[in-house]
Amino acid sequence: MKKSVRKAIIAGNWKMNKTRPEAKALLEEIKPLVANADVEVVACVPFTNLETAIAATEGSNIKIGAENVHFEKSGAYTGEISADMLVELGVEYVVIGHSERRQYFAETDETVNKRTKAALAAGLKPIVCVGELLWERECSITEEVIARQIKLDLYDIPAEDVKKTVIAYEPVWAIGTGKTATADQAEEVCALIRATLAKLYDEETAQAVTIQYGGSMNAGNCAELLSKENVDGGLIGGASLKAADFNTIVQAAVNG
Ligand code: PEP
Repeated sequence: MKKSVRKAIIAGNWKMNKTRPEAKALLEEIKPLVANADVEVVACVPFTNLETAIAATEGSNIKIGAENVHFEKSGAYTGEISADMLVELGVEYVVIGHSERRQYFAETDETVNKRTKAALAAGLKPIVCVGELLWERECSITEEVIARQIKLDLYDIPAEDVKKTVIAYEPVWAIGTGKTATADQAEEVCALIRATLAKLYDEETAQAVTIQYGGSMNAGNCAELLSKENVDGGLIGGASLKAADFNTIVQAAVNG
């Protein structure tokens, strides 16, 4: 299977930004720009914006995602949101294991694995984030770090579910820093992720999985990154909050 037949997915990760009126206004601005784009366009928004975002994008080609999900179905987990709660709202995607959650909220590969399984069981499409720290890259252990994360995060998830899972390669040193991996660095690790999937599952499964790059992707660097064979899309933070920039990235994926 070639890149051209995999689904390109451009997903915005709004992080902790936008009130409900601001969210509606941004989506109204993005909607006409991306209306004819032949790629999957997703906006992952704060929990408080989900209902507003789903209403604002109804009948459009923009899908809505959450930024996290708990792994239990219900119970005494104050402050948490279950997969069923998201599905009931009409949410389709969910970001899991973002480096900010790993760094600030004690997210581990074990909880990433549990959240991914819960999301899949409920019918959500998980966007599972992996990526190395700067010092891990400097110590030349990027390959081990990424392969380990992929093995642990996808532990015991069958091939048919992995095909519904999006992997986002997000080098931690490139997130929100303005430092982007070069297109060759991004391609090298995305190809490594695909090779790891092929070892864990099989070549057909590996070729079916959408692998995104994320980390300071913007209107200026997106075309080169998205032209790479194993970079099937992007997870976009800062640039997803500007309609014109986000659209430039979406259009680059159409051409990618
Ligand atoms: C992200 O939050 O996933 C991200 C890639 O952020 P940024 O694009 O701002 O680096």
